[in-house]
This record gives sequence, C-alpha cells and structure tokens, in this order.
Amino acid sequence: MLERCDFRQARDLMMEHVGPVGMQKAPLSACAGRILARAVTAQEDVPPFDRSPYDGYAFRAKDVEAASLQDPVTLRIVDYIAAGDVPHTGITAGTAAHLMTGAPVPEGADAVLPFEKTRFTDEEVTISSPVKPGSNVVRAGEDIRKGMTLCGAGVRIDAGLAGTLAGQGIFEPYVYKKPLVGVISTGSEILEEGETPAPGRIYNSNRYALQTACELAGCRSIYIGTVIDETDTIAQVIASALKTCDAVILSGGVSVGDFDCTPAAMEKAGVEILAHGLALKPGMAGAYGIFDDRKSDPSGGQGDGAIPVFGLSGNPAACMTAFYAVVLPVLRKMMGFAPEDCIPAKLRVRLSGDYSRKNQSARLLRGKVDLTAVVQEMQPAAGQGNQMLSTLAGSNAFAEIPAGTTVQAGETVDAFLMGDI
Ligand code: AMP
Ligand code: MG
Repeated sequence: MLERCDFRQARDLMMEHVGPVGMQKAPLSACAGRILARAVTAQEDVPPFDRSPYDGYAFRAKDVEAASLQDPVTLRIVDYIAAGDVPHTGITAGTAAHLMTGAPVPEGADAVLPFEKTRFTDEEVTISSPVKPGSNVVRAGEDIRKGMTLCGAGVRIDAGLAGTLAGQGIFEPYVYKKPLVGVISTGSEILEEGETPAPGRIYNSNRYALQTACELAGCRSIYIGTVIDETDTIAQVIASALKTCDAVILSGGVSVGDFDCTPAAMEKAGVEILAHGLALKPGMAGAYGIFDDRKSDPSGGQGDGAIPVFGLSGNPAACMTAFYAVVLPVLRKMMGFAPEDCIPAKLRVRLSGDYSRKNQSARLLRGKVDLTAVVQEMQPAAGQGNQMLSTLAGSNAFAEIPAGTTVQAGETVDAFLMGDI
C-alpha cells in the first residue's frame, strides 16, 4: 500500500485495476456525450451522388467556354430537378437542367451556376462567362468515402459525430455503458435535505457536489445514504453499495481523528486499500482501494475490472480536488474513454494572483483559466482552504504549486482543466 504518494501515482494505480463497464446499443437520440464502443466504418459515400450546392442550372462547361458579356451562350432547359428528385434526362450539347440545392447533377453535366449568376426564362438560361469543369458540383464521397474508418472506439459522441453517424444511417451505435457511481456520506454531524437544522449539524455538500460532478462527467450516480461514524455501519453500507454499483465514493472519516473509521470500514467490506493519503493539498486525507470479487468468482463482477472505492476527505474542497485529480480519470477509463483522453491535458498558465503559503506537499490551486487569452491566464480563487467549496464554483482548472514553493502573480505554472471546457 502506498502512503502519502503523489496524486498521479494513486490515480495510475487505481486506473490499472479498472476497465469499461460493458457496452450496449443505444438510440442515437440518447447518445450525446457517450463513448463509442466500436469503430465505425463508412457504409456509403457522403454525399451519395454528385449534387448541386445551389438553386441554379447544370450544364456542360464545354458549351460555355467561349461565353462572354458580348457573346453570351443560351442553353435550352430540358429538365427540372427538385431536391429528393432524380434527373429525368441527361444533358447534351446546348442543354441545361434547372435544379435545386441538394438535387443530383444529371448525367452529362459537369458544372452548375447559381441562378443569380445567369439570366433565365422558363425555357432558356443565358450564361455570359466561361465556367471551369467541376464548378459548383459537390462530388459523391467528397465528405466521406465508403469503407473509410469514420471514427475509432473510445471517442465521445459530439454533435459532429452524431450527425456523421446519422448520415450513414447508423441510428443505434454501440456505446459503452455509463458506470453507476454510488455516493456515501459519513459523519454524525451531516444534515440531510428536509431535516431540521440543529446546533453542531451541517448540511451535506459533498453528496451534491460529487453527484453533479459524476453526472456531468457522463456517469450515472445514486445516493446510497449518510452513515454515522461507526466502522461496522459504514462497512455494511459499503458492502451493499458494492452489490449494485460500478464505483463507490465516500466522503468523510479518512483523517486520523477518533471517529475516522472509513479506511477500516472499507477493509471490513473487503476493499483492498492501494493508497492511503496523498502528498496533496487540499486532499491529503484519503483512502483509495479496489473491490475485486472476480478473484473468487472469475465470471462475477461488473465489466472488465474491479470496483474502485474512493474514501475522500470530508472537507468539501479537498473532496472535490481529489475527485478531479484522482477519481475522474478512473471513471473515464470505466466509461470507455481512449487511454490518452482519461487524464486531463496539461496546460501552462500564467497566474494573475499570488499564492504565498509554502506547503510541504504540492498544492492544486483552483481558479478560472481564461481560454480566450493567447497565453492562458489563470485567476486563482480568493479562498483556497480545504473547507471552502464556494470558491470551486466557477473555477475550471487547477494550477499545480510544487511542494516547498510559493508563487507570485505573473509566474507560469503547470495546470489542468477540470472538465472538457
Ligand atoms: P472528516 O473528513 O470526516 O474529518 O470531515 C472533515 C470536515 O468536513 C468536517 O468539518 C466535516 O464536518 C466536514 N464534512 C464532512 N462531510 C461533509 C459533507 N458531506 N458535507 C459538508 N461537509 C462535510
Ligand atoms: Mg467526519
């Protein structure tokens, strides 16, 4: 078991033990943000036929090669083709077809002019300049060629990919299942929604912060409940969560106080703790483990890996810092993200404020990165205490302050974004 390790070590160790939770076919209309589980090969050319990008006239470029203002060429209109229609005849010397945007370009024609660049009647169209062969014809397969790999597995379905799949007639892609994350709060002081406030009690922030972060990441989440600080009781609740959930996140009870029973409860429920504590502020307290029932029953367990169990600090900002630094990459692997997309990309940011407290551990400074700036500027949030959740609201990144150092406004440091934006 690692003690007080770098958060990246704990993250990587946890990631080694988990895998995607399985795949399913899902209606494309319900696939926003889901991860493609199988590579998709193009079934057909897009567009499927040569088509016109304009309302206009299709003809042979050769017929107008000598056209000029003084000596325009007049062609006889022999067809009218609407979008969704097919040509009724081919184009031969001296003829043209009147066609609409998206309509197929008829046999024989190799150029299109929009109607506003012509003069026309119902019977004839007059063209007064030469046109290059191929002008304004969108070629079959110009966007996508049949047989090409459209997209590999592990890619998130965004608007462009959803439209591209639909363009291939793929309305039920294979996607990875969404991991179900069980959230447990521990602490005898925790007050739930609807309970009467009382001295010494505090509302449950972590439950909502964690469930929101899980859902925004693309997981499903379920609130298992709030448990008092008692090892056996917490162990029972963990054990019941392990029966139905793909991942479990607890908050509270992971420091070294008299009532910090979460690590012992995790072990009692059969969880093997891989890392205890991190060299990280906020987020020093924490226990990171796995439950692997496939060892006793190889056909059991959900999906391709063990069930990760995260015992995070009760301090709300510490809890969420550890979530983004360690938990989210693990959940992303379980969601089926390609390996390079699980870990947030590194940024360099120039700090627009100081952080003048020296720490023995590395610190993740939450704040807001201005993504429109040429050099990324990050304004550290005004309060960095591990209990100050309000300063996480509106933050989009963490800047890393190495152990034993302070930073001043204008300095450049490593950072990573909390999510995709
Ligand atoms: P613990 O990790 O249990 O020692 O808790 C550290 C601090 O976080 C204490 O002040 C707790 O009251 C507070 N805390 C624990 N759980 C929650 C929670 N779910 N929501 C808000 N604060 C919490
Ligand atoms: Mg506690």
